[in-house]
Amino acid sequence: MAGIIAITGRPNSGKSSLFNRLTGTKKAIVDDMPGVTRDRLYGECEYDGRNFYVVDTGGIFGEDTDFSAGIRSHVEAAVKESDAVIFLADGKAGITGSDEEIAEFLRKCNKPVIVAVNKLDDPKHDDLANEAYALGFEEVIAISALHKRGIYDLLDAVMRYLPEDDISEDDGEIRIVIAGKPNVGKSSMLNRITSTERSLVSPIAGTTRDPVDTVTEYDGEKLRIIDTAGLRRRAKFDGDLEYYSFVRTLAAVDRAEVALLLMDAEEPCTDQDKRIASHVVRKGKGIILVINKWDLMSGEKKADEITRKIREEMPFLSYAPVIFSSALSGRGVGKILATAITVSQNRKKHIATNQLNKLMRDILAFDRLPSDKKGRTLKVYYCSQAEGVPPTFIFFVNNPSLVNTGFENHVKNKLRELEDFTGSPVRTFWRGKE
Ligand code: GDP
Repeated sequence: MAGIIAITGRPNSGKSSLFNRLTGTKKAIVDDMPGVTRDRLYGECEYDGRNFYVVDTGGIFGEDTDFSAGIRSHVEAAVKESDAVIFLADGKAGITGSDEEIAEFLRKCNKPVIVAVNKLDDPKHDDLANEAYALGFEEVIAISALHKRGIYDLLDAVMRYLPEDDISEDDGEIRIVIAGKPNVGKSSMLNRITSTERSLVSPIAGTTRDPVDTVTEYDGEKLRIIDTAGLRRRAKFDGDLEYYSFVRTLAAVDRAEVALLLMDAEEPCTDQDKRIASHVVRKGKGIILVINKWDLMSGEKKADEITRKIREEMPFLSYAPVIFSSALSGRGVGKILATAITVSQNRKKHIATNQLNKLMRDILAFDRLPSDKKGRTLKVYYCSQAEGVPPTFIFFVNNPSLVNTGFENHVKNKLRELEDFTGSPVRTFWRGKE
C-alpha cells in the first residue's frame, strides 16, 4: 500500500530529528539524484504492520534559509505528491510569523495537515502546544522527537490519512505499475494499454483522492494499473523537483505485483533506472524491462546491442524479460501485457517437494561446496519453499556463515532450471541447526 508523508516546518523546528525518529535511521537512503545536494530526503517507516514513506522537505532546502519562492516550490512539489503533511512547529520558540506563513501556504495545498509541536520534552510544558491551534488546523499533537514523546500519537494520526491497505495477492487482478524516469513515455504507455480493443476501462476511486487506479482487461485477465493519477499528471517540475514523483513511484511499486520499467531506447540503464530496478527487486516484485521509443531507432543489430548493455549494467536482473516497444505506435504493447500476466504467474509458482529433492542432489554433487579456512565445509540437509511471494526457499545447513554469494547464485540458477521463474526474483535463506 505505502503512502507518502511529508514533513515540513520552519528551519530548526527539528524536522530531521523527527525524520530520523520515524524512519529509525541516522541517515536516510543516500541519493545522488542530480540537483539534490542533501542526502537526507526520504526514508521508510513501518508502524502497526504498515509501511509508508517519509519525505523531509528540510533535506532539500537546508535548515537556514527563509521560506523563499524557490523553497516554496520544493515544498509544494513534496506536498503535492504526499498523502498528508506533518507541519512541525517549535514548542520552545513558540509560534512565529513564518509558521503562519507556512500554515497559509499549506491550507492552499488541500492536503490533510497534522500539526506536531516539537521539543516538548516534559509533559508539564504540553500546554505550550495549545498556542499552535491558532495556526488553524484541527489536529495538534505535542511531541519530542528527541525524547520519543508523543510519537505514537503522531503515528496513529498519520495512519488515518494513508491510502487503504489494499494489497491482496489473490483478488483475481494482476497489479501492474508503470515506472521509469520522467518523459520516458509512462503516460503514453498507460493510454496505449487502456485503449487496446479488448480493454474495459474503469477508474477505481481511492479513499483519499480519485481515481487512483485503472482496471483494464487483456486476454481474459483483469489488469490493475496502479496510480494512474500520478501517471497522468503532466510533469510540471524539472530537475530536483522531479524527486518527489520518484518517491511516488516507489510507493506505487509497493502496491504492485509486476513493474514495467520503461527505459529510453536512446539512453537505457540510467542511474535512476537502476535505482527503481533495485527497489523493485528489494520489494520482491516481478519486473519487465521495456525499451520504449523503439520507433526512433532502427535495425535488429541495435536490439542485440541494447540487450547486451542491459545485461552488463544490470546483472542483478538477468532473469528479467526485455521487450522493445513504442507507446506511440503500439508496437510491443500486447507482448508487454502477455508477459506481465506470465510474470505474475511465475512469481506465484511453487516447486514440488520431489523436485526440490532433486535440486538437493544436484547441490550436493556440486564439487565446490563452500568451506572456510578452518576446513569446515557447507553441508545442506534439506530445503523447503516458504509460503508466499516471491518464491522463497529455505535451506537448512550446518553453518550459514559458510554460504557465499557465488554459491548462493549457483543455487538460484539451479532453482531457475527446475522451474520457470522468468521476471520474478527468487529468494534463498540459509538456516543453521539450532
Ligand atoms: P512520462 O513522463 O514518462 O509519462 O512520458 P510521456 O508519456 O508524457 O511521454 C513523453 C514524450 O515522449 C511525449 O512527447 C510522448 O509523445 C513521447 N513518447 C512516448 N512514447 C513514445 C514512443 O514510443 N515513441 C516516440 N517517438 N515518442 C514517444
